[in-house]
Amino acid sequence: MKYQSFLLKYAEIGTKGKNRYMFEDALMHQAREHLKRVDGDFVIQKEQGRIYVNCMSEYDYDEVVDALTKVFGVIAICPMIQFPVCEYGELREKILEFVKSEHPEQEFTFKAKCRRADKTYEKTSDEINADVGYDVLTAYPGSRVDVHNPDFTIYIEIRKQVNVFTKIIPGAGGMPIGTNGKAMLLLSGGIDSPVAGYMIAKRGVILEACYFHAPPYTSERAKQKVVDLAKAVAKYSGTIKLHIINFTEIQLAIYEKCPHDELTIIMRRYMMKIAERIAEANDCIGLITGESIGQVASQTTFSLRCTDEVCNLPVYRPVIGFDKQEIVNLAEKIGTFETSILPYEDCCTIFVAKHPVTKPRLDTIKKSETHLADCIDEMVERCIAEDEVVWCS
Ligand code: ATP
Ligand code: MG
Repeated sequence: MKYQSFLLKYAEIGTKGKNRYMFEDALMHQAREHLKRVDGDFVIQKEQGRIYVNCMSEYDYDEVVDALTKVFGVIAICPMIQFPVCEYGELREKILEFVKSEHPEQEFTFKAKCRRADKTYEKTSDEINADVGYDVLTAYPGSRVDVHNPDFTIYIEIRKQVNVFTKIIPGAGGMPIGTNGKAMLLLSGGIDSPVAGYMIAKRGVILEACYFHAPPYTSERAKQKVVDLAKAVAKYSGTIKLHIINFTEIQLAIYEKCPHDELTIIMRRYMMKIAERIAEANDCIGLITGESIGQVASQTTFSLRCTDEVCNLPVYRPVIGFDKQEIVNLAEKIGTFETSILPYEDCCTIFVAKHPVTKPRLDTIKKSETHLADCIDEMVERCIAEDEVVWCS
């Protein structure tokens, strides 16, 4: 085992005053959950405002880093060696040996930065910095000290044990999941909604999701694609409870009874209404969609105004101001893009008008919806009652 421990650095949660322990505990819980995917025995420990993942068995380094870089709330991960506080000569040898294994390259700039929580140690931090610097300069004739902008810093911490690290791996950022309630993501098979879910989860919100499908017009493969997307987002957010809702009956009714240029808006309004009902039954206090202003007819500001009108819960639309390419970039980064572009049909694309309204008027839409009055309520109840749940992790 090369590294005995990983230091998890966090930023924003450090500012939470009296609630700080709650954020730290949530972060530790999330780290524990993410490490369940990795073979090995890990103990997560809090010590004086910092969090360590201590490795109690052999493990695969890449897998551990992959898991820890998906924990929201962590801004950096530092793989460390750890050894008992020892005599000074041995300490210097151990540090040099570690630097050699971490940095096989011959030319670099560096600095040493020591901190002693244990002030009784035989040398001061400045002395240790100077001596470690001397050792490295001697071992590497091509190296140079640069205190302002070094290629790497050798961090040495003398505490109950000695910690040494030189690598700082960027973390996922954000806030730990579980510190900001739960919201319902309207998850389609497209590019935008998985990204929207990721962004809200990143702020500490637990995700639940719902997908509207329209069998036999949409296939099992289209449904599987959404399950796969939920699993991809769950790598960050933790397990997602996905509700699969059969929307066929409602879609056919809208298609039959409402003006075709208003289909998408009316359909979207019913999706939001149903999503809100399922959200409330599952303690979600917000909805999330992947809408972005102007991307398609149903996402003009006029259309969004009509969609929003049916909801009482706040609707979070984190990609609202993003260009498509910006959303694509994020989808690629989080690993959902490849699945999103698989060519399976979506219920919105099947029942779609050639010329949808781009400036729907709320009163007109409401009037069109009266054509559904005799059947819609029972249809809504039916599709809520028959919702199929898939746990995605
Ligand atoms: P996406 O890439 O997320 O599918 P899109 O560009 O295809 O978005 P629309 O199809 O207009 O946009 O959908 C807008 C939003 O409505 C989606 O981001 C998603 O949140 C929600 N939505 C659309 N279709 C469905 C569906 N079948 N099930 C659940 N939510 C949906
Ligand atoms: Mg879509």
